[in-house]
Amino acid sequence: MTDDRTADTLDAAPEAASSPSTQTNWSETLTFTPATAASPRCLAELREVVRLAHAARKQVRARGSGHSWNPAIATADCSVNTSRLTPEGKHACVCDVIGAAPAGQGNCMEVTHATVTGADGRTYRRISVPAGMCQGDFARLAQQLGAPLPTQGPAPDITLSGFVANGCHGTGWSEPTVAELVYGLELVAPDGSVLTFTADASPPGFEDLGLSPAELMNVVRVNQGALGVLARIVFQLPAEPFNLRVSNAFVPVTDVFDRADPGKLQRLIEGHDYVEIFWFPYNAYKMKGLVPVPEGPEHDTLWVMMFDRTSDPVSGDATFVELWNDAFGVLALAGGAIGPLVDRLPRVVPAMSNFALHTMKWKNHFSDPVVLTPPDAFLYQKHYFRGFLDLEFTMPMDGAQGFADVVAAFYQLVDRMEAWRSGSEGDTPYPVNLNAHARFVRNSQATLSPAYAPAGSSQHTCYFEYLSYSHGELTDTYLAFNREFYAPEHGLGWKKWGGLPNWGKYLDSVPGIDEYVHSLLTAKRGAGANRLEQFLAVRDRIDPDGATFTNEYLRGFFTGHQVARQPLRGAPGASYPEMPAEPPRRAFPLANVEHAAPTRPMRAEGMELYHDLAAGAAFLLNEHGEVNLLALEHDPTTGMLHYVPAAPSQHLGFEAILERVARFHQHRQAG
Ligand SMILES: Cc1cc2nc3c(=O)[nH]c(=O)nc-3n(C[C@H](O)[C@H](O)[C@H](O)COP(=O)(O)OP(=O)(O)OC[C@H]3O[C@@H](n4cnc5c(N)ncnc54)[C@H](O)[C@@H]3O)c2cc1C
Repeated sequence: MTDDRTADTLDAAPEAASSPSTQTNWSETLTFTPATAASPRCLAELREVVRLAHAARKQVRARGSGHSWNPAIATADCSVNTSRLTPEGKHACVCDVIGAAPAGQGNCMEVTHATVTGADGRTYRRISVPAGMCQGDFARLAQQLGAPLPTQGPAPDITLSGFVANGCHGTGWSEPTVAELVYGLELVAPDGSVLTFTADASPPGFEDLGLSPAELMNVVRVNQGALGVLARIVFQLPAEPFNLRVSNAFVPVTDVFDRADPGKLQRLIEGHDYVEIFWFPYNAYKMKGLVPVPEGPEHDTLWVMMFDRTSDPVSGDATFVELWNDAFGVLALAGGAIGPLVDRLPRVVPAMSNFALHTMKWKNHFSDPVVLTPPDAFLYQKHYFRGFLDLEFTMPMDGAQGFADVVAAFYQLVDRMEAWRSGSEGDTPYPVNLNAHARFVRNSQATLSPAYAPAGSSQHTCYFEYLSYSHGELTDTYLAFNREFYAPEHGLGWKKWGGLPNWGKYLDSVPGIDEYVHSLLTAKRGAGANRLEQFLAVRDRIDPDGATFTNEYLRGFFTGHQVARQPLRGAPGASYPEMPAEPPRRAFPLANVEHAAPTRPMRAEGMELYHDLAAGAAFLLNEHGEVNLLALEHDPTTGMLHYVPAAPSQHLGFEAILERVARFHQHRQAG
């Protein structure tokens, strides 16, 4: 590669680049203003944008759909958004017109595919796609080509470029991460040239590094945007169609996470091809007056999602698939309004956790396991709200001890939350207020993968994450909790287990993360180069000293020196009516109530009213998409149900909430 820096400036950039405008990530927790924001529509434009930025000695940071919670995509110079590089955009490709397409490739946005036999004798489909394709579209394409993705994440709109660059994952005990499914990559280097890496051939210029093509692929596949801009990704997937038997269980916490018997977790994980576990914190509760009081985490219910491969035909109908793909149901719709409520009235968390657990609408259509195609089963997060924070760590797992470690990690989090709750004097008792989520995969040989293990290792990996609303002061609470959880005197939090964080999550919320990551990446591996040295040797070959593609954020991990980080911006809080000393109440006949458990609502005028008689609560999903919590008291002598609003909302005060409740009863009586 030649360093052909010229006096060119970005003023000469093609149409794809525009002048400064504020950029944000998907969750709107990060903002930055690059001098140039480019959205190239094909390889030719991408090459020109990168070449000109480099010639002007500008930094270039690539971005996809921005589904990360860290400043990896932030730059004051040139932000290159590759999400327009998709097959749908092929009409905009000018490569063949100006002769910029790689040999034999006319339109750089085309999908190409071929059937190959792997070294293991199995038949594979090699599918080459532009890097801005979303994982949902790609999953459906692979399915059509008879080579379903064996694992993937659940959110369809995340772009492949960032999912691969960050080494992201789905679940599946015997499955790798998604980056392992990549056979080859096309990267645009600082001078605008295209470097093509595959597991069978390396581009010129890397010979003396002593890496085979397969080893070099392992260095470049998880690259965090530090090696260039990904233009194209070639997947190699087994041409082995399968369906998935989807089953779900709602079980006591101790059926899975039992301090005395980690074998329960082991039997669950090893007993299914794919497992995910969700804990909505403190979901066992009872109303005491207007306050949901938790019964303690050990009384909570976990949601366990299990998929098993089958050749049985699909049995789930289109209605079920539609509901399943929106698996979080009411939470996905109302989460953006629950966050401000939790910010204003943190004590509502147990009731909201319980509400989230019960209002997954697919549950009403689901009793026996259902067989779905892999994309229909895996892509269960079609909708989600944006105002939340997410931090995830890997935990290396070896044999039975690995399961004991995961159980210990769960209680490490829960016990710290309990300590926080008892010490918080009621101000912010629930710093982790959305959910904790565990997934399990095999491992990855990609140098920078959080699931890294050497080739041939029997190690598996647990990806454990915890999520909270980010509204108002909740981001500060999350940060304060993490300062405590990861403190040495409290056992270093999940750093204790020696895994890396997921590069896409809010790892900045962990004190000392640069030093920690650096120490893991520079750990000795026999006489050879450590992981970081290996990665940086390749990086320096493409981008000497990281002058073009490495930003301050990445420099922290690469040097181990803490860099100053701007805290993420939380979603806005909201103003609420003050709680009156004596809130109003109204009574209606219990006989009007159709369902006493909060799985099915009453419906009226586009609103929903859920009753949970056992817990003494009702939930109004109002016409503004907000959730109002009400305390319920049943008087058996009169048969009347007394409603008292426990949580107003931005749009509805106490009387307005009761007036909405009255309408449900009027409709019922009229009907
Ligand atoms: C709702 C939601 C669900 C999620 N689910 C999962 C999940 O199941 N599993 C999981 O592991 N993570 C998950 N994440 C995290 C997310 O997948 C990662 O943050 C992922 O990296 C985002 O991809 P992106 O394309 O949006 O990349 P961005 O966030 O835009 O960028 C991430 C990194 O990739 C680099 N990059 C992006 N495009 C390119 C390119 N063309 N060339 C070179 N580098 C590039 C960027 O420079 C940056 O370093 C989820 C996030 C959200 C918000």
